[in-house]
Amino acid sequence: MKTNFVFTAICAFLLGACHSATSGTEKTALTKNAEKTEQPSQDSSPVADAAAILAKKEVPVLCYHHIKDIKPSDGPMTKTYSVTPAHFAEQMKALKDDGYETILPDQLYNYLVHGATLPAKPVILSFDDTDEDQFTIAYPEMKKYGFKGVFFIMTVSINRPHYMTEEQLKELSDAGNAVEAHTWDHHMVTKYQGEDWEKQLVQPKGKVEGIIGKSADYFAYPFGLWNRAAFPELKKAGYKMAFSLATKRDSTQPLYTIRRMIVAGQWSTPGVLNAMKQTFHLD
Ligand SMILES: [Zn+2]
Repeated sequence: MKTNFVFTAICAFLLGACHSATSGTEKTALTKNAEKTEQPSQDSSPVADAAAILAKKEVPVLCYHHIKDIKPSDGPMTKTYSVTPAHFAEQMKALKDDGYETILPDQLYNYLVHGATLPAKPVILSFDDTDEDQFTIAYPEMKKYGFKGVFFIMTVSINRPHYMTEEQLKELSDAGNAVEAHTWDHHMVTKYQGEDWEKQLVQPKGKVEGIIGKSADYFAYPFGLWNRAAFPELKKAGYKMAFSLATKRDSTQPLYTIRRMIVAGQWSTPGVLNAMKQTFHLD
């Protein structure tokens, strides 16, 4: 939707300006399996506080919207938020060739909170807004490399033309991808009051869980926009982490302000990898 483009563009411009505390000293090794069923409350490992989480080496999280060819007549926003199928294929191959392995939000959570180990070069591939081309184009391309992604679903659009169906979401989940919530209808979280929290946070979580038959514990803010009033509501609704865009993480609630980088459609494949390394302070 158009407003999405405007706000995400604003966030994208912040890319170069933000940074966060990373020690760069932490070495990660072989991954520890992080099952969806794992309950943190039953985990006896120590729980990290906000400062400890912010000090950890950041995991890059890429954010995609449309995977489709663009027309010369498309506007600049559409061009920014559309990665062509050919470019997407090239980017997946480049990540694989560079040694990256995809991880899922559960693994990120267990790394940040419980100190679980990750692959040496982890990356999260995230997809917003329920577009059907994420299923028909991105998903088969990712499968070639054994990559998994996280799909943030705006539940009002499920089963509508050009959006994913319930069956497609179930297939993504059954194949080991994460299917999570991205509100009911994409209104910005910073404007919520009264019943909005129930409609935009609680009900979409239940809707997604009903489709995939698993818990959906993660949330992405529309337009990447958040405020501190959202944190207690997200916790009350049962979300364990929430993803923003390129803005700085909150000093007290880094789990609810996990950063992502939009992959702009105009970028070359080496440009995507370079931007990722700069944004997330990778070696
Ligand atoms: Zn969105």
